[in-house]
Amino acid sequence: MSKNFVKFTGGLISILIILGGWFLVGDKLVIAIPILTLAIFLLFLSLKTLSDKIKKLEKGKMGLEHVLERSEENRKKAETLKNKFYLMIDELSDGLLVVNKDNNILFINNQAEKFLNISRGEILNRSILRLRDLSNIKKIVFPLLANFKGVHEEEVEVKKNLILNISIEPLVLAKNNIAKLITLQDITKIKVAIAAKNKLISVTVHQLKAPLSAIRASLRMFLSKDFGKITKKQEDILEKTYEKNESAINLVDDLLEESKVDDLSNFSNRSLINLEDSVSSVVEFYKEEIEKKKIDFIFNKSEEKLPKVFVDSSKVKMVIQNLLDNAIKYTPLKGKIEISIMSKDGSVQFKITDSGIGVPEDQKEKIFQRFMRADNAFSTEELGTGLGLTIAKDIIENHHGKIWLESEENQGSTFSFSLPIANN
Ligand code: ADP
Repeated sequence: MSKNFVKFTGGLISILIILGGWFLVGDKLVIAIPILTLAIFLLFLSLKTLSDKIKKLEKGKMGLEHVLERSEENRKKAETLKNKFYLMIDELSDGLLVVNKDNNILFINNQAEKFLNISRGEILNRSILRLRDLSNIKKIVFPLLANFKGVHEEEVEVKKNLILNISIEPLVLAKNNIAKLITLQDITKIKVAIAAKNKLISVTVHQLKAPLSAIRASLRMFLSKDFGKITKKQEDILEKTYEKNESAINLVDDLLEESKVDDLSNFSNRSLINLEDSVSSVVEFYKEEIEKKKIDFIFNKSEEKLPKVFVDSSKVKMVIQNLLDNAIKYTPLKGKIEISIMSKDGSVQFKITDSGIGVPEDQKEKIFQRFMRADNAFSTEELGTGLGLTIAKDIIENHHGKIWLESEENQGSTFSFSLPIANN
């Protein structure tokens, strides 16, 4: 019912009442009664419409109240859920920190407070870079943030009996508002268990090495006829025994190396090196063997000055040695081996390509697994343990690098690894 319609109806009823009254006073009942009846009918109609309208409004009001109640309930539910969520995050066994793009600390949970030996009141909304004087923050987070260019992960021995795996990753809060999520995971127990396992392996393997070496010496004496003549058949059997013993010694050596890879002392033996120097020294060591097999060998050094990498030099040399050793082993006489080294995408990349037996397609994926030897390797004369590439992968990944293989059976293989360039 519009305002104008109400006014019009009200006006009409008033006029009708006045008119009816006037005729009534003038005793003109025949005219007065119909006019007054019409006025009363119109009045009744208006009141009825008005009452319907009020009822409708009443209903609408109740509906609105219900909606308001529901949204209040939902708000309370969301609040409880949010509190529960924060409580859960607070009670997580991993430490969590969120810093915004200006490095201000937005959030820290209970466990991170404990790991960093700090209370949230001291650091919330302050820049993490200003907190260098707080020793644990400085030791853990600051160096990581300084180097942070994306996802970053590092194991840090914070203090005696506390080794943390620290990872930093981007956290998108909104478009153009990217924070960093820092997770601190206590890996002390795992590391101690690995160290204990490695110690056990290394002690057992050391014990094995002595008798194996003694057997090698005795077999050599038999084979060089120090104990008198032997028949051709005896010689064949002794040769085979000697070979088997050699592969057992290789296995022992590889197991010893592997147990050293996860050593906790890992963190401290790194220095800034030029990878090219490491490659040159390994190549020098294999010179004779390369010549003996008449291999066409090329070493493409980097054209520009190579950036340095921050690595454990002896371990990285071990990787290069293993890859070159394999390339020579699995490449026939007069084959070809090419080594290249270059700087690429923020890392230094090493690549060794050979024209050897290659790795069958279905076994490429598993080639870095422990004790894995491809089927075609068994048909060569070469002995192996299937541990060298596992060790190489462990070492490279411990340095935040990557190692991979491209190969085609009977055509050759290319093993590559990359190591991140050090931030000087
Ligand atoms: P090993 O050589 O002692 O068997 P590795 O772990 O070094 O152990 O290598 C694992 C396997 O990977 C080898 O047995 C072989 O099947 C394959 N492989 C490694 N390097 C090459 C290569 N350059 N060419 C062909 N096959 C290779």
